[in-house]
Amino acid sequence: MIRFDRVNKRYGSYAALTDINEQIQRGEVVVVCGPSGSGKSTLIRTINRLEPIHSGRILLDGQDIHRPGLDVNAFRSGIGFVFQQFNLFPHLSALDNCSLAPRQLRGLTREQAHEQSLALLRRVGLGHKADALPAQLSGGQQQRVAIARALAMQPPVMLFDEPTSALDPEMVGEVLAVMKDLAAEGMTMVCVTHEMGFAREVADRVLFMDAGQVLERATPAEFFNRPQHPRAQQFLSDIR
Ligand code: ATP
Ligand code: MG
Repeated sequence: MIRFDRVNKRYGSYAALTDINEQIQRGEVVVVCGPSGSGKSTLIRTINRLEPIHSGRILLDGQDIHRPGLDVNAFRSGIGFVFQQFNLFPHLSALDNCSLAPRQLRGLTREQAHEQSLALLRRVGLGHKADALPAQLSGGQQQRVAIARALAMQPPVMLFDEPTSALDPEMVGEVLAVMKDLAAEGMTMVCVTHEMGFAREVADRVLFMDAGQVLERATPAEFFNRPQHPRAQQFLSDIR
């Protein structure tokens, strides 16, 4: 469903991604891990064109995401992206945060968008907070609204970049639980996370990155029990 074909990306002369060749299947949950600065964020940001690439191709459902004529804004808003910082619109209620893009970009009426948003907020356990402003919600609740908002565009894939890193520890679990439910429902997910428990339990596959390259791809059981690459072995011993 997502295919990287010899993808290279530089920041100036710095090679942030080198010859990435990966395939992610529909319904697959892939966790991307690796040391700071290894290119994890850059990699997932290329999938929704938040980062341009210098060579190679990225295909989504067989179509080049850099094809001429593609409406970049529409494309980008059709892919679910959840960041470390929740980036909710501060002046809009949880419900309106979720309703805005579907109304503007999918042409839903106010009623349709509200109905869908309420269903999504219920799905992330926040039906009772539909009218709350972001400032009236905890970090974990805000992040769950951000997930509901991303889902409102009915994305084919959800990308997560350290969605729990900015949260107080007691709120990490509620966000991971929502992500786990999504995975169980068959959502295609690419997650950058340091939550190795989540990777073990939920991921179909782990990609280990270092210095802009994917050095290892394995099932969680293989990766955590028998990492092959010396850099992966080092990484795992550092975080344990
Ligand atoms: P972290 O775990 O700290 O989030 P990461 O694996 O997500 O790290 P990236 O943010 O993808 O790493 O960065 C990869 C490399 O590219 C790093 O060396 C970083 O300094 C560099 N880099 C990232 N963004 C830019 C930029 N806008 N300009 C220049 N260099 C950048
Ligand atoms: Mg990062």
